[in-house]
Amino acid sequence: MSTPPAVAFDAPRVAAWPGGKRWVYSITFDEALSDLHKFVVPILASCGVPGHLEVVVGQMGEVRKLGNSSYNGFKHMSASELREMLDRGWGVGNHSWSHEATNAETADLELDKAKQVLERAIGQPITIYCSSGDNTNMNEGALAACRRLGYLGAMSITDALNRPDDADLMWMNRTFLHTQGYGPFFSEFDPWRNLTQAKYESGWVIDYLHCPLETAVHPNKDCSAAELRRRVEAVVSEGGSDVWLARVEDAVDYRYARRAAVITPEAGIDGLYRVAAPSLNEAVRLRSVTLELPRGTYAAEVDGRPAPIVSRGGELLLDVDLSRPRMLRLRRVV
Ligand SMILES: [Zn+2]
Repeated sequence: MSTPPAVAFDAPRVAAWPGGKRWVYSITFDEALSDLHKFVVPILASCGVPGHLEVVVGQMGEVRKLGNSSYNGFKHMSASELREMLDRGWGVGNHSWSHEATNAETADLELDKAKQVLERAIGQPITIYCSSGDNTNMNEGALAACRRLGYLGAMSITDALNRPDDADLMWMNRTFLHTQGYGPFFSEFDPWRNLTQAKYESGWVIDYLHCPLETAVHPNKDCSAAELRRRVEAVVSEGGSDVWLARVEDAVDYRYARRAAVITPEAGIDGLYRVAAPSLNEAVRLRSVTLELPRGTYAAEVDGRPAPIVSRGGELLLDVDLSRPRMLRLRRVV
């Protein structure tokens, strides 16, 4: 009687998003105004959505006084208010020091000093830069300084999806969530904007707005509280358990960890792999990835210890922390 032929074990793959989630949603509030507590904080909390605050660091805790800004007279959150928002599960990014020009000449103030002061204020690293004004402040000098100073991502106001395999996180797209879009199209408010595309293309939607109140402070810069509620309810109902409601910095971390993960079969032993992320940027805090395991896998060990496999949406999933290299042993039915 002959022995059956060996069956090659397909290698595990790193999932597009953690936990088998199919797409991702984040929402960002430029200027980090205290009046977010009037409507935004309770609306997001009721739907389990974390927000993200883009802080004008030079005006932290002060009443806004910036040129002819629509939001002059509103108060920026203070350090203690920002810390309280972190405790609620929100994230924080740098929206520059002055809300003026950010470029190679001003990077020391707008990107370096602002990052350091904001990190001391909230007691956590800042890895996200959010361009102020328009995309002029996404110039090459600004983005080169972001890379040099340890930022992991930079956000524009370009209305498009972000995708799991995008190479460069120094230009992340943001979708406007405004009562009316900018000219010449003056797009109508759409609570489902980009969501269907995100579902079909494993995309990541990052919404951009300021501080919804009874009505938008400016129709081309904000939406109303009622429109915000329609949006987050659309996200939750469309997404169900398939959408990852994520802070910007957490989704950015996953993108780095996924890109850096290397899975190497160990020669001569079927089902044994070395999994590591040797080139992972040191500023990445969340260093776990979700692996999609080959069909038929019934048990897994990480570094010799049993590890739980989760079955979700037809995939067998395993989370692996790549803070250090791991040995992964898979056993399967053949
Ligand atoms: Zn701004």
